Amino acid sequence: MTPAPSRTSSDALVCFGASGDLAHKKIFPALFALAKRRALNFPVIGVARSRWSPTQFRDRVTDSIKKSGLAIDRRALNVLLSSLTYVAGDYGSESTFTALGQTLAGSRRPAFYLAIPPGLFESVIKSIGKAGLARDGRVIVEKPFGLDLRSARRLNAAARSFFAEDAIFRIDHFLGAEAIENLLYFRFANSFLEPIWNRNYVSSVQITLAEAFGVGDRGTLYEGLGCLRDVVQNHMFQIVGLLAMDAPAAFDKKALRSAKLEVFRSIRPLTRQDLVRGQFTGYRNVPGVAKRSDVETFCALRLRLGSSRWKGVPWYLRSGKRLATTATEVRVELKERPLQLFAGVPELPANYIRFRVSPGPAIAFGVRIKRSGKKFAGEQRELFLMDEQPEEQSPYERLLSDAMAGDGTLFNGEAGVEAAWAVVDPVLKNHGRALPYAPGSWGPAQARRLLAPGDEWYAPKTAPKN
Ligand code: NDP
Repeated sequence: MTPAPSRTSSDALVCFGASGDLAHKKIFPALFALAKRRALNFPVIGVARSRWSPTQFRDRVTDSIKKSGLAIDRRALNVLLSSLTYVAGDYGSESTFTALGQTLAGSRRPAFYLAIPPGLFESVIKSIGKAGLARDGRVIVEKPFGLDLRSARRLNAAARSFFAEDAIFRIDHFLGAEAIENLLYFRFANSFLEPIWNRNYVSSVQITLAEAFGVGDRGTLYEGLGCLRDVVQNHMFQIVGLLAMDAPAAFDKKALRSAKLEVFRSIRPLTRQDLVRGQFTGYRNVPGVAKRSDVETFCALRLRLGSSRWKGVPWYLRSGKRLATTATEVRVELKERPLQLFAGVPELPANYIRFRVSPGPAIAFGVRIKRSGKKFAGEQRELFLMDEQPEEQSPYERLLSDAMAGDGTLFNGEAGVEAAWAVVDPVLKNHGRALPYAPGSWGPAQARRLLAPGDEWYAPKTAPKN
């Protein structure tokens, strides 16, 4: 039997954007997975503009589950389908929210998931509030949370005027991914890293989020974003936060948010010298993209953290579309030993720790070992740890069920989001032109200029070298 929601759990999920792409690709499969584990114990109300009948909505959800690749379980599918209601209406019209209010009658603590174009977040939050639906409710806001510091502040202010901070769930699906959570776990569950995790031992940190694919048919959407807003200010900064933070005082929302906040506040706001922007050749032919678009599909940047732990250590971030591969990886490079005892040690790479986030999460240590023979000559190898456990829950299932339960540990706080925007805000408009790069490459060669002497950009590895 499916357990009833607890007193603090949300007792209904309202999905704004129910006819959209994200709902189809991620949200319905996440709800289906919840139904499979007998945790879908609330009604789901889809709200969107398409004039769908209840049957059309159920067909859309069924189609989403079939295409998700999840094993179909008839019982779970029936549970999901019977939990669905659909409200058709424009978000600009008051009557949509009146109809929603009637559908929600009897719900004490609904959760409103805004899976809608970011330009509508603020007005929909206000309409929920004005319709009197926000009381005791929760709001789950998709990315991007704002398009710059000013709009993020406005959005926070709008959300805070109707919802308590504890009731606002700013989603970053990276934080629901096992490999990202493992960055936090690995750092603070083991004792051997902490003594070297600082400017005394680390020479640089590099984070790559590479996508071999382009923008698909989402040219119009991407034109309003660009790489910096799409993945750097949010996903990549979350990785920086987890890697750079001091040990939180406890594993709870407050301590985690405050530890990350310290990191974001310690990062020097970017200048145009810290950033190289690129655009893959052919981007301007994508439908919805301006013929003379300067939107970046690639960026490389150098962060400077001012904390005593990281002062002087460059953090290099690189991300882009149509790059040579699809992979997300972190590489923490360690300083050389002050004195080399053995001759013939390979020049590079030095000792490093590599966190492969995706695909195929793994952790590897770059080490030198002695080659057999009389000479004390060495070679570079990797200690490679790959944990092949299948993900128990998808990031969306994890985050959705956390939000429904009111657990905001893996969500972003108001101050953290604004502090991350404050770092990138100065270069959102004040930057060099996006430099062309060939699809399948690693972006414009000019990205090299960000590197300190002796440093280089690393292409994520695909398999263990040993
Ligand atoms: P879509 O454009 O596919 O969907 C938008 C949804 O909003 C549709 O359901 C649409 O209804 C509805 N909508 C838009 N305007 C109105 C309106 N005036 N009145 C009523 N309904 C309206 O967007 P996505 O699903 O791709 O993205 C949604 C959010 O999720 C965005 O914030 C995006 O950044 C985020 N996101 C998306 C990802 C993805 O892979 N798609 C990944 C990560 C985040 P209708 O179609 O019926 O008109």
